[in-house]
Amino acid sequence: MPSAPRNGGRHVPIARGGTAMTTPTSPLRKIVHVDMDAFYASVEQRDDPALRDRPVVVAWRGRRSVVCAASYEARRFGIHSAMPAARAERLCPHAVFVPPDFTRYRAVSAEVRGIFARYTDLIEPLSLDEAYLDVTANKRGLATATQVARAIRADIRAETGLNASAGVAPAKYLAKIASDWRKPNGLFVIQPHEVLDFLAPLPVGKLPGVGRATCGALEALGIHTVGDLRQRPLAELAARFGKFGARLHDLARGVDTRSVQPRQLRKSLSAETTFEQDRTLDELAAPLDELAARVWRSLDRSRREPRTVVVKLKTSDFQLLTRSHTPPRPPSSAAEFAALSRGLLARVDLPPTTRYRLVGTGLSNFQVREQAERQPGLFAEAHDAADESDATASGD
Ligand SMILES: [Mg+2]
Repeated sequence: MPSAPRNGGRHVPIARGGTAMTTPTSPLRKIVHVDMDAFYASVEQRDDPALRDRPVVVAWRGRRSVVCAASYEARRFGIHSAMPAARAERLCPHAVFVPPDFTRYRAVSAEVRGIFARYTDLIEPLSLDEAYLDVTANKRGLATATQVARAIRADIRAETGLNASAGVAPAKYLAKIASDWRKPNGLFVIQPHEVLDFLAPLPVGKLPGVGRATCGALEALGIHTVGDLRQRPLAELAARFGKFGARLHDLARGVDTRSVQPRQLRKSLSAETTFEQDRTLDELAAPLDELAARVWRSLDRSRREPRTVVVKLKTSDFQLLTRSHTPPRPPSSAAEFAALSRGLLARVDLPPTTRYRLVGTGLSNFQVREQAERQPGLFAEAHDAADESDATASGD
């Protein structure tokens, strides 16, 4: 492996083609990934002393609901988020089930983001309880990223009573791996010169984008660790995995030039519901209207508006269908959006006897709004920007 150029004695990860990861202008980046510990469950335990030290499962009751979050006490029984609630109940019959309260979780999440903003404006929220922060330059003049991460965790603890774990590293994916390394309530730092050694023994499944299938394919090639992966030439990885092969080649060398993206522009907004009892296609109009109204309520159309309506269906045997439509003119009201969603049901060509366990609707393809069309009244209405996407994100 080519030896890295020395930069003031520090070992610098090598980008593809042998150039150093720093540019003359930009110093090595300092990224912090902050992840609240068992977020939803911790908020519940904080707010109700009777729940402390008990196995708490945040989930709606019901045959088909899934676990949104589990306290550390519940995890000892093998319970984790996204698991069917019924299974969690079997694993720990004395667990306390609490329905999720997203309004409260959002409020705490906003407090935590307020703390982040004291240290940097480069904040990229990933969900209610996770975010990337670029602290290459920090607002508090602290000397190191480690000090920033420590200070942020202390502030979160002092002001919210909750624990956050953090990871510090020169690249986003490394910081995310690091924040998980000493969970719960931990801080782990990967210094630039430690990157290659840290990565070498890591199972390839820890790399972003390497799911079960890719992991299996890599292992079939005899690649089990990142160190193994680093031995493979770019050409081989590209031939086998295409564009992702080049990404794997970079990740094996600590290269991830993605920057922290403050306030991600919304790409889509949706809501879905799983039924207790499967329904026929005709019985989907009413829940679709409700979902459309919920999505529309949380839409901020002040600067950009959605051009495409999407409907998602899951049949009783888990077949997934989506149908989408981009009308000539963007929907201008909840009723119009709902009508467009219902219209998409007509494009479902499965036998009429088919039954559905889930329906969802959403908006995507957001485009900048034409200035001329702005009407003050509408804005006021459209501004309760509660973020619906959290409804599905796990608060673990
Ligand atoms: Mg978390």
